[in-house]
Amino acid sequence: MIPLVDLKAQYTSIKSEIDEAIARVLAQTAFIQGEDVALLEQEFASFCGAREGVGVASGTEALRLALLALGVGPGDEVITTPLTFIATASAIVHVGARPVFADVDPVTLNIDPSHIEAAVTSRTKAIIAVHLHGNPADMDPIREVADRHGLKVIEDAAQAHGARYKGRRVGTLSDVACFSFYPGKNLGAYGDAGMVITDDPQVAEQVRLLRDHGRRDKYEHLQVGSNSRLDTIQAAIVRAKLRHLEQWNDRRRAIARLYRSLLEGTGLGLPQEDEWAEPVYHLFVVRTPERDRLQASLKRAGIATGIHYPIPLHLQPAFSSLGYGAGDFPYSEQAANDMLSIPIYPELSDTQVHQVARVIREALAELAPE
Ligand SMILES: *Cc1c(COP(=O)(O)O)cnc(C)c1O
Repeated sequence: MIPLVDLKAQYTSIKSEIDEAIARVLAQTAFIQGEDVALLEQEFASFCGAREGVGVASGTEALRLALLALGVGPGDEVITTPLTFIATASAIVHVGARPVFADVDPVTLNIDPSHIEAAVTSRTKAIIAVHLHGNPADMDPIREVADRHGLKVIEDAAQAHGARYKGRRVGTLSDVACFSFYPGKNLGAYGDAGMVITDDPQVAEQVRLLRDHGRRDKYEHLQVGSNSRLDTIQAAIVRAKLRHLEQWNDRRRAIARLYRSLLEGTGLGLPQEDEWAEPVYHLFVVRTPERDRLQASLKRAGIATGIHYPIPLHLQPAFSSLGYGAGDFPYSEQAANDMLSIPIYPELSDTQVHQVARVIREALAELAPE
């Protein structure tokens, strides 16, 4: 059996560091806003090359608080991709604004800057770019569209910790960036956790207030905020894992190279790397019109796969009130029908990669029309 991700294998490989980190927090009994939270904020912001980090309860909360900090609210529109996890767009609804979708590039599957331009109206306030599957979106043209129309840019970097765009880390390519430390992400906690990073001290200060009931003192509240704090135990775990992130991302890239060499010539669509991109392969996504049958063959061979994501957001029942329909974003819809995520995680061995690739080659040969 080969799983899609193997959190147990990773825990086993760093057990003593994790256990020690948790024990330290327990000994301090500083469970809320303990010192590991502030230390992780500094360490992760500095890893990315940003000035400020603010730990929050999840990636979803990072997005919601970033939007609030930029002043996005009722009556505003925010442009984003329909090919992402629902949180990217639900955060926009949570602050009272309206998600407006723009289709993706058919190859990179990241939002296409030329489609953004067409979606701008007088109500547009911001753009959320997602670095899908760990591959950076093309941020320079996105910034140009934003500057032409006076819009803010947010990165949803939940799948891309450590990825680079033109040599710079994702998270430093926008006004404010949002990360998730959900357990299965490239840098994952052992529960829910997230972070906002920015170079703008006012945005950081605003997120810091909002994540903790708007308090200045224990019982003096400057604004109506929420309890969206980053748990101290989770912060300690993420700090321990951050020391391994570069090496884990290198291993993901090596696995991607191996998959690419083993699957070339099969007719399968493989992830492309732009010359300016250094992706971190949160997922390795192949594409084929025979997706469902390939997935079934892999399942029979004991190989787990996933689909990220099977329903584009504009076709989600939750967003039916936005008035979109089938055919509105053809490249996203096409991808939803033909993408398949195959196993990738740092502990996956070369032998396992060869095994997955062999099963795929055999399945495709069988599925090929006579
Ligand atoms: C995981 C993810 C989120 C949400 O993060 P949570 O920590 O689960 O709230 C948001 N956007 C994208 C693209 C994600 O992959």
